[in-house]
Amino acid sequence: MSEILQSSQLSIEKSHPGRRAVRFEKPQFKPEKYVPAKYLRKTTDRLPELTEQDTVRHFTNLSRQNYSLDSHFYPLGSCTMKYNPKAYDALSALDGFANVHPFAPEESVQGTLELMYQLQEFLKEITGLAAFTLQPAAGAHGELTGILTARAYFAAKKDKNRTEVIVPDTAHGTNPATSHMAGYNVINIKSGPDGRVDLQALQNALSERTAVVMLTVPNTVGLFEKDIRQIADKVHAVGALLYMDGANFNALIGSAKPADFGVDIMHLNLHKTFAAPHGGGGPGSGPVGASAEVAPFLPKPIVEKTAKGTYTLQGKMPRSLGKMKAFYGNISVCIRAYAYMRQFDGNTLKTISQDAVLSANYMRVLLKEAFPAFFDAPCMHECVLTIQKDKMNGVHTSDVAKRLLDYGFYAPTIYFPLIVPEALMIEPTETESRDMLEAFATALQKIFEEAQHTPELVKGAPHNQPVQRIDEVGAAREPNLHW
Ligand SMILES: *Cc1c(COP(=O)(O)O)cnc(C)c1O
Repeated sequence: MSEILQSSQLSIEKSHPGRRAVRFEKPQFKPEKYVPAKYLRKTTDRLPELTEQDTVRHFTNLSRQNYSLDSHFYPLGSCTMKYNPKAYDALSALDGFANVHPFAPEESVQGTLELMYQLQEFLKEITGLAAFTLQPAAGAHGELTGILTARAYFAAKKDKNRTEVIVPDTAHGTNPATSHMAGYNVINIKSGPDGRVDLQALQNALSERTAVVMLTVPNTVGLFEKDIRQIADKVHAVGALLYMDGANFNALIGSAKPADFGVDIMHLNLHKTFAAPHGGGGPGSGPVGASAEVAPFLPKPIVEKTAKGTYTLQGKMPRSLGKMKAFYGNISVCIRAYAYMRQFDGNTLKTISQDAVLSANYMRVLLKEAFPAFFDAPCMHECVLTIQKDKMNGVHTSDVAKRLLDYGFYAPTIYFPLIVPEALMIEPTETESRDMLEAFATALQKIFEEAQHTPELVKGAPHNQPVQRIDEVGAAREPNLHW
């Protein structure tokens, strides 16, 4: 496309008065017969006037400016951007699922309820917890649900002085935000030199004021809390609950059951871990599980199996904290997760998870010379790397990320977690081939070379993208939605 055409397309609205894609016949009926006068339009709405071809080209070209999983490797850390089979999309769109009315009588939606019940059972099996609710609409919503469940638990025990939630500095950013939103004082604790919870710092922070200790496992530097059992014992010794943020459970399926190491409440991200994409603002699902002691306080309804073998949402949960979402959750995401878990047996799920860990470690080792891991140790599902400032000629992580776009890769998560300076958080997932991992590492090694010999090239990146560096904050605060 010539530059002139491109810039003129960017600078004018595309609508031309009188252009049409479809012409509809005048309706036979009179709308005013059916629609109350106050709802009738007085003037014609100002819609863009375009031919069908112009419309198709507009959206096709817009979509081509995107990076997506279907077009590119997308190693966005803490997002588990793995390939999700299209078959699951087709299953979730089946008429019997997609067109169910939320108020449909239970007898008519037994299939959907059975699926939800079995999914709850699967989640119990892989975590060892006593019960799961499928209601929360995303990971962060699951966290809020979990912390409010803990709140309801302590309220029932008349344990009113527990006003604090302890959150280590390696937690996902949503953890302190959730605790604050749930009305708790957030107590931050610093990690030890190995990037894991410092047991002494935890001990010092724990007291009879502690309601919950909230741990992201694996934590945001990609490490497993090897002292998790001791942590759980310390938390329980002061009468508090241990919450696990299990959004990154892709690292652990089949290898560890959180209930076995003392977790009382946790959420999973069905998107990310079980076949639905994360990012892009699509629907998610953040089921929350709890131990037998805490389960009665989970939100209702939870699907139950009756003595007759049917499924119901009418079970009594007198101590439940109530509802966290209208109806039952984002069922289309649950269907995908169910299909995923039905397709693979337990051993395969474990292999999937171990392959995700292997990919991240392979990446870490491939990049050792150019971008070393901040904590030099085997990682779980993602590796957190940093730059070698003395060798980079003023090139920053943000420049490296932009330059990766020129090489045809989506950038990893950058500048997160906050405790790692100039962080590059790479989560390759198990669905990428060895060739792809090596191609990505090679691109990063080239960028490292460029930083030494032609740093301006990296600082000016991207060079071959439809837009260069954008003011992301400005775009969010003052969106200009004109073409
Ligand atoms: C992604 C993520 C979340 C938040 O999940 P959303 O579905 O985006 O709300 C929470 N914790 C961790 C560790 C995550 O990776």
